[in-house]
Order: sequence, then C-alpha cells, then structure tokens
Amino acid sequence: MNCVECDGPLIIPSDAIQGEIVGCKDCGTSYELVKVTNSDLFTIRPAELEEEDWGE
Ligand SMILES: [Zn+2]
Repeated sequence: MNCVECDGPLIIPSDAIQGEIVGCKDCGTSYELVKVTNSDLFTIRPAELEEEDWGE
C-alpha cells in the first residue's frame, strides 16, 4: 500500500484494526484504515484532523 500524496510505502501493522491511524514516514500524511467488507484487507482514507479547521 502506498501513500496517496507521495507514493511512499505505508506500513500497515499485521494486527491493524478498523479506524487505526497510520502515518506516511516520507511526507507525514495520516491515513485512517478502513476494513474492506468480506475481506481481510484494508483500504485507506485521509485522516481528518480537526485541528486544521480551527483557522477561522
Ligand atoms: Zn507520503
């Protein structure tokens, strides 16, 4: 699995769980693991960091 932003490798722990946050070591982007239905695989989506909405 690779980072969407920089295409660097994302390390998914073998004991990863739904909703776990993994970070790209190359660019620092955080992703949330989403379990694929009827599969042992995970997909990723960008983690929503609430801090970034505080700039108003
Ligand atoms: Zn990256």
